[in-house]
Amino acid sequence: MPTSSAIAVQHPLPAPGARLTGGLLYGWQRRNAAASMPLALHQLVVAGNLDNLELAIRATDAPAAPVSRAGTARSRANGVIPSAEVGYYGPVFMDSDIYKTLEAIGWELAPAGNQPRDRPPPPNQERLPAQPPRTGRGSDPDRVFASFAAATIELLARVQRPDGYLNSYIQASGEPRYAQLATSHEWYCDGHFIQAAIALARGTGGQEAMDIAIRLADHLVKEFAGQRKGLDGHPLIETALIELYRETGTAAYRDLAAQLVEQRGHGLTGDSGFGYRYLQDHLPVRERTTEVGHVVRALYLDAGVTDVATETNDSQLLDTSRQRWDDMVASKTSLSGGNGSRHEGESFGDHFEVPPDRAYNETCAAIASFQWSWRLLLATGEAKYADHMERILFNGFAAAINTDGNRFFYVNPLQRRVDHYEKDDPGRRREWFKTACCPPNIMRLLASLHHYLATSKDETLTIHQYATGTVTGADLTVELATNYPWDGEIALRVPSAPGTAEREIALRVPPWSAAAPLVVTINGSAERSPVPPDRYLRLRRAWRPGDEVRLHLDLAPRWTYPDRRADAVRGCVAVERGPLVYCFEQADQSARLDELAILPGTPLAERTVTLPGIGTTIQLSAPGRHVPPDPATAGAGWTSRPAPPAPAESAPSAAPADQAGPSGPAVPPAPDGRAVTVTAIPYFQWDNRGPGAMRVWIPAAAPSSPG
Ligand SMILES: [Zn+2]
Repeated sequence: MPTSSAIAVQHPLPAPGARLTGGLLYGWQRRNAAASMPLALHQLVVAGNLDNLELAIRATDAPAAPVSRAGTARSRANGVIPSAEVGYYGPVFMDSDIYKTLEAIGWELAPAGNQPRDRPPPPNQERLPAQPPRTGRGSDPDRVFASFAAATIELLARVQRPDGYLNSYIQASGEPRYAQLATSHEWYCDGHFIQAAIALARGTGGQEAMDIAIRLADHLVKEFAGQRKGLDGHPLIETALIELYRETGTAAYRDLAAQLVEQRGHGLTGDSGFGYRYLQDHLPVRERTTEVGHVVRALYLDAGVTDVATETNDSQLLDTSRQRWDDMVASKTSLSGGNGSRHEGESFGDHFEVPPDRAYNETCAAIASFQWSWRLLLATGEAKYADHMERILFNGFAAAINTDGNRFFYVNPLQRRVDHYEKDDPGRRREWFKTACCPPNIMRLLASLHHYLATSKDETLTIHQYATGTVTGADLTVELATNYPWDGEIALRVPSAPGTAEREIALRVPPWSAAAPLVVTINGSAERSPVPPDRYLRLRRAWRPGDEVRLHLDLAPRWTYPDRRADAVRGCVAVERGPLVYCFEQADQSARLDELAILPGTPLAERTVTLPGIGTTIQLSAPGRHVPPDPATAGAGWTSRPAPPAPAESAPSAAPADQAGPSGPAVPPAPDGRAVTVTAIPYFQWDNRGPGAMRVWIPAAAPSSPG
């Protein structure tokens, strides 16, 4: 709910302008509240996050004995503190897990936001116990969430110093403030708290957390505005300060965010042990053309860059962010929408270094990319940003959560071999992590998901994402009903409209549906419409209550081929249907997955099935080949054959060297193998049926193979 001074081409709908009421996304949101968030409340106790707040209070009330400096330079670089040395649990950014959970609670408790109408309002006004509950499981979830939030905020008010400083690690350890900003995550944690406070204020109307957040932000302004005293190694504070500016109208928060954006790239972060590219501190943001280094840092930073550019009307700054986004999506992004080609440094790789098996694709990176793309959508109104948000949402992000909502991926590769291990970890979803950034990040996005459905500008209500729910903007309310993404039919009904005034409803047409003419039915009258160049179908009229629109999107399954420069997946193909990327899991195949190839370009058969651990889904199948290893070459990872004699030197070649025609070098045909059917399920549903191999990109059988 930004103030009227907030600038954007498109505006998010003011609360409670959108909500989900049915379908897949609504199911994810309800699962989040019923299973994931209670698990977070439990884990914040088990992992010691809440105890750390008590440690900080005790250290402040009775100054602690001097403690040894925490850990080696390397462990500091990873943010990990050997707890025995300082009595502190977990990494230095443990507070941020609490804050992300509080943010999820803020969105979840919004009375008219994500909740069904027949649910009672949360007991916001109730006086709540001083101690957080020791378990979030059982009892009425809203009451537990509200109780947890109130008790935790009360604790945080006691942790916060009179000058506004707030950080349990620094206060518990006695280490000096802001002395190691490259690794201390102090502003990163501050940013997450500010975001939590805004969510709680917007969701519940409660101001207690906002009071703490404003004291904290005022402290940062006092300490750092106009100064060159360092930069936090982990961006996030930038977006938080801009949102606090939007919430309060206090320009000093916007100006500090702008200052921090401009200061990055001048080596102010200090030594993290990973180099300056890791922290995006090697080059000013206005000069940088590509994403490098730690992915989550890079993407949170660019979300902040976009926010600053939007709120200061700085088109040059915005253009640099858009250029990096284009570059990233074109050459540094997995088909799932995930980012991070390297485990080392959790980082971006080179252009077209997009390995399916070694992709890191941290869940937080998917969330950060989603948030950055949303800001670019607000700033420009261009469909490609909403397209990418959808790709992330249904694939790279959704795959991080199991069917039951109680296990999570930190790393999201596009291939897992049957014998996969990373140290002692077989690469399956886990309940929690020592560095638990991802699970509560998932929770805050799912709890706020309805806010990303639509925007408004002047007399236009634009719907970017399709789900069953209600959106209100530009004096219009629209009810959406759909079984998307399983079905391409989207029904819109207008229950209320502003009399005789004309209003525009704009509907995004995804790129995979843009080839066919659109079929739109308005009050029973069908029309065929070309897809507009900007892929927003605009319907303008004086809407009357009861008006109905039906839009049909073409979800026909399709074959997807990689860029030829993406070496790791050359010769492979993938399968998609609507917004869903598909994957091949061992459980659905008749032979070993690593011995299968597929015949691209053949029809893809759809079948609705109910699978154990997954539920009802749509499988896709195509003809393939089972090609077991050749016993003659067993024992070597390659096969050699004598090269044929070169043509005589005097014979001129009619074709360029890279277009060897019929007379060019002969490529040995791949063995045809046995005909089989190869079957895929949506990628987001993988790893719900036990361990086993999985791949999104699958080798294409030789096109010359008999059908
Ligand atoms: Zn994470």
